[in-house]
Amino acid sequence: MLAPSYQKLKDNLSKFIDPKRILDNPLQTLAYGTDASFYRLIPEIVILAHNEAEVIEIIKQAKKLNIALTFRAAGTSLSGQAITDSVLVVATHGWKNFELLDNNQKIKLEPGIVGSRANTFLAPHGLKIGPDPASINAAMIGGIVANNASGMCCGTAQNSYQTIADIRIVLNDGTVLDTSDAESVAAFKNSHKALIQEIESLRNTIKNDESLYHFIKNKFKIKNTTGYSINALVDYEDPIEIIKHLMVGSEGTLAFISNVTFKTVIDEKFKSCSLLIFNTIQDACNATILLKSAPVAAVELLDRDSIRSVENDPAAPDYFKTLPESACALLVECRDNTVEVLQQKQEAIRLQIQSIPTYTDYEFTSDPKQYYFNWKARKGLLPTVGGLRKNGTTVIIEDVAFPLPQLAEACLALKDLFKKYEYHDAVLFGHALEGNLHFVFSQDFSTQTEVDRYEKLMSELAILVVDRFNGSLKAEHGTGRNMAPFVEKEWGTAAYEIMKRIKTIFDPNNKINPDVLINPDPKAHLKNLKPMPESHAIVDKCMECGFCEPYCVSEGLTLSPRQRIVIAREISRLEESNENPTRLAAIRKDVTYQLDETCATDGLCALACPVNIDTGKFVKTWRANELNGSSKKVAEYIGSSMAGTTAVLRVGLKAVSFFHSILGTRIMTTLSNGIHFISFGKVPKWIPEMPKGADKIKTL
Ligand SMILES: Cc1cc2nc3c(=O)[nH]c(=O)nc-3n(C[C@H](O)[C@H](O)[C@H](O)COP(=O)(O)OP(=O)(O)OC[C@H]3O[C@@H](n4cnc5c(N)ncnc54)[C@H](O)[C@@H]3O)c2cc1C
Ligand code: SF4
Repeated sequence: MLAPSYQKLKDNLSKFIDPKRILDNPLQTLAYGTDASFYRLIPEIVILAHNEAEVIEIIKQAKKLNIALTFRAAGTSLSGQAITDSVLVVATHGWKNFELLDNNQKIKLEPGIVGSRANTFLAPHGLKIGPDPASINAAMIGGIVANNASGMCCGTAQNSYQTIADIRIVLNDGTVLDTSDAESVAAFKNSHKALIQEIESLRNTIKNDESLYHFIKNKFKIKNTTGYSINALVDYEDPIEIIKHLMVGSEGTLAFISNVTFKTVIDEKFKSCSLLIFNTIQDACNATILLKSAPVAAVELLDRDSIRSVENDPAAPDYFKTLPESACALLVECRDNTVEVLQQKQEAIRLQIQSIPTYTDYEFTSDPKQYYFNWKARKGLLPTVGGLRKNGTTVIIEDVAFPLPQLAEACLALKDLFKKYEYHDAVLFGHALEGNLHFVFSQDFSTQTEVDRYEKLMSELAILVVDRFNGSLKAEHGTGRNMAPFVEKEWGTAAYEIMKRIKTIFDPNNKINPDVLINPDPKAHLKNLKPMPESHAIVDKCMECGFCEPYCVSEGLTLSPRQRIVIAREISRLEESNENPTRLAAIRKDVTYQLDETCATDGLCALACPVNIDTGKFVKTWRANELNGSSKKVAEYIGSSMAGTTAVLRVGLKAVSFFHSILGTRIMTTLSNGIHFISFGKVPKWIPEMPKGADKIKTL
C-alpha cells in the first residue's frame, strides 16, 4: 500500500502517463531500484518516463506534493547516486534520439543512448564522443554526463566537462533551459533573474578570494568528481556557461538532463600497445611522469597483484609467473591516423623513457591477438577479482587520484593500507597518466565487524588521499552516498559552503536526488548497504553491474538479467530469513511472468557479462524447480517422445490452418476467443500469424 502522498502522485500522474509505466509493486520497484553500487534503497514508485513533457509533469506534481525524485539512466553507477526510497524516474526507453550537427563537429544526444551506440553514429566519420568510461557499452549519456564519467584515453582533456557544447535541462520548477537556443536562454534569464544573480555572486565570491580561486584551479588539474564541478565558477564568466558546466558531474541533484550536445573528437584509425614491465612501482611511476609529454593515448598501471590475477590466463606469457614481487606493469597505448606517424610516436615514447630500465624488452604490437590480450589483462581485473570473491561478498572498486609526482609514493601507501586492514585480495591499477588509481577488493557487509573494518579503511583512506597527498577521493565515478560524507574533508569549509549554496540555488527544497553529493550524515556511507545473499551457483558471482542489460531482449518488457538475479536473490533472502512473508508472497505473485515466462533463455547476456553469467541458463533451472509433480511428468514425457510430439503438433497446426482457409480470419478469431474464454484460458488463443504445420523432414 502506498502512503497517501505517493498514491496521490500516482493518481495525478496516471492522467498524463500510461499507468502501465508507473510501477509500485514490490517486484518491479526492487528490480528497477537496484544499481551497480553496493547500496540499496527501494523506491516507492518507479516511473518509466518516455519524453520531456512527462518529466516536466512529474517534476511539477512531485513538487506540489513535496516528494523527492531521483533520475536514472543505465544504473551502472558505483557510488550509490542512482538509488532512492522515494520516486525513481527512469529515462531510457524513449530517449534515444540523436542529431549530427555542424558537419559532424557536434552531436546532440538524448540521455537514454548507450555511450558506445553514440560512437557507432560517429564511427563512419572517424569520430567519437570524448568521455570513454570502461562501462561505455552499458552506461548511457544521461549518466555519463551527470557523473562526468571518463576512462583511459579521455583524461581531463576530453571528458564531458571539456567537450560539452550545449545542454537542455528541466529545473525543479519545471522550467526548461536549452543553452543551444537563444530564445530559451533569453526567456530563462528573464524568468530566473534571482538564480542568475546567485550564480554570479558565487562566481564573484571565488574570484575575490585568491587562495580559493587557485585551490579550485589546482584541484581540477587531476581528475576530480568529488562534489560539484565548481571549476565552472572559475573557468567561465557567463552564468549560462557556468550552469551548463555545473550540470556535468552534478549526479542528477540539480536538474534533469533532456539532451546534451558534445563536440566530437577524432577516433584514430591505427592503434598499437605495449606492456612494459618495470622492476618497481617507483620506476613505473617515474616513467609515467616522462610519458606525460610523450605522444601516448593511454598509460595504464597494473601492480604485481593485478598481474598475478591474470597470470593463469592461457594467453598470458610464461614470464608473468616469475616476475619479482616488486614488479609493476604499464600498458602504453599509441594511436594515429597513419601507420608512419604511429611508428614515429612509438619511437618517441621509447626515447622518452630510455633512462628507466625495464624488466624485459618490449615491443609495440598491433597484432590483434596480442593487442587483445594486453587489454584483456587490464580490463579483466574487475571481473577477475569479482569472479574470485567469496559468495555473499560485494566487489568494491574505489577510485582516487593523486598529483603525478606523488603517484609512486601514493601507490605504496595504498598497498600498506590494504595490508593493515587485511584486504589481501586487493589489486591496484588505473589510469596512471592522470594519477587515477582504482583498487578493487571484496567486502562482506553481513557482519558489523566487517562493516567496521570498511569504515576504518575509508576514514584512513580519506586522510591518506587528502591530507598526505592532496589528491581527489573520487576521480571519475562520482561522489554518491559513498563519498558524500567526505566532500567537506576534501574541499575544506569555504569550497563546501559554495557547493551547498549551489544545491540550494537549484533545489531549495532538497527534493532532487537528496543525500547524494551533499549529505550531512557522517556515516551515510555505512548505511543502506546492499545484501548479497547466495541464491544459485550460476548467478552468485553477479556484481549487479548492468552490463548485460543492453543485450537482453526482454529488458524494458519485463526484466533484464541483472533484475532477474536481484529478484531471485531477494526471494532466497526472504525464504531463508522468513523476515517478511507478505513481501515474499507479493514478489512471488509476479515472478513467473516477469522472471521466467518472458526470458528468451538465449544466453546473449553471457556475452556481455564480465563474469560470464548466463542468466538464461539460470532461468531454465528456475523453471525446472518451479514445476510441480504432474507438470514435470508431462515435460519428461514430451522430452522423451519428441518425434511423436512434433508429429501431433504438425497435424494440429495443419488442421488449424485448414479451418482458417475455410472460415476466414474474422470468424476464426471470434471462435478462438470464445473457446479460450469458455476453457478458462486453458486453450490458447489463435492469431493470424500462427504458422502452418511444416512437412516432415526426410532423413536419409
Ligand atoms: C564495471 C564498471 C566499470 C565502470 N568503469 C567506469 C569508468 O571507467 N569510468 C567511469 O567514469 N565510470 C565507470 N563506471 C561507473 C558508471 O558506469 C559511470 O559513472 C556511468 O557514467 C554511469 O552511467 P549510467 O547511465 O549507468 O547512469 P546511472 O547510474 O543511471 O546514473 C548516474 C547518475 O546520473 C544521474 N542521471 C541519470 N540520468 C540523468 C538525467 N537524464 N538527468 C539528470 N541526471 C541523470 C543519476 O541520478 C545518477 O546520479 C563503471 C561502472 C561499472 C559497473
Ligand atoms: S549478470 Fe553479469 S553482466 Fe549482468 S549484472 Fe550480473 S555480473 Fe553484471
